[in-house]
Amino acid sequence: MLYIGCHLPSSKGYLAMGRHAVALGANTFAFFTRNPRGGSAKKINTSDVEAFLKLAESHNFGTLVAHAPYTMNLCSNNLSIREFGRNMLADDMKRMEMTPGQYYNFHPGSHVGQGVDLGIEQIAETLNNVLTKEQSTTVLLEGMAGKGSEIGSKFEELKAILDKVELKEKMGVCLDTCHLWEAGYDIVNDLNGVLEEFDRIVGIKYLKAMHLNDSKNPIAAHKDRHELIGEGHIGKEALIKIINHPELRKLPFILETPNDDEGYANEIKLMQSNYTKW
Ligand code: FE
Ligand code: FE
Ligand code: ZN
Repeated sequence: MLYIGCHLPSSKGYLAMGRHAVALGANTFAFFTRNPRGGSAKKINTSDVEAFLKLAESHNFGTLVAHAPYTMNLCSNNLSIREFGRNMLADDMKRMEMTPGQYYNFHPGSHVGQGVDLGIEQIAETLNNVLTKEQSTTVLLEGMAGKGSEIGSKFEELKAILDKVELKEKMGVCLDTCHLWEAGYDIVNDLNGVLEEFDRIVGIKYLKAMHLNDSKNPIAAHKDRHELIGEGHIGKEALIKIINHPELRKLPFILETPNDDEGYANEIKLMQSNYTKW
């Protein structure tokens, strides 16, 4: 079974997202836990969540991959931005427990001139401050394209963060195909080599989810511009290999391509029809 979906608007609640996913042919999805620009989140409605969980079960949904707001920067050079991020993370961890056992993906952050080492220190410090033994959510570090002072475009940086986190069993990694490519990892010509490197440096068991995107740019561009599947420099064939790869094929794949609903439904169908059943 290929688990594939896309980003869905979350403003109408969980059941609406579940129905939206089903309508697109998706069996997992991503959503922003709050307005992507940040700020306070709406209260979660228990009966909405219950209805959603029923629907998700009857449609055999895979694990969801929630996305933290883009404004969350746990290694900003500005203390109040770091605290704002910490508070959103803590609140999101509580909210995620309404749907137990899902993934919560976030961008490690941009160090804005403070340097990679201090940035990594600050990210890990906040995770250690917020994560609890009791939580059922797995928090995923997203691998980044390396735009500006972004941390996490190198496997070594993801590893350095994980090394400093105490509750490692609550942590994982989400790799984004556009980000990998633009960070300089050649997933088109050497997918096995990239995954072996990830395994050697981070450990493949940490890889929990994938973002499936084509890229508007050539390899190592560090610009982070997503493209429609098959319209970019990664191409359809390489992305089909990725969803079928033995180490990846069971992970949830989230499309973050510049699409409307019809485009997403078509990309989901394209990937499902090119998924090899074992
Ligand atoms: Fe992201
Ligand atoms: Fe992504
Ligand atoms: Zn991106």
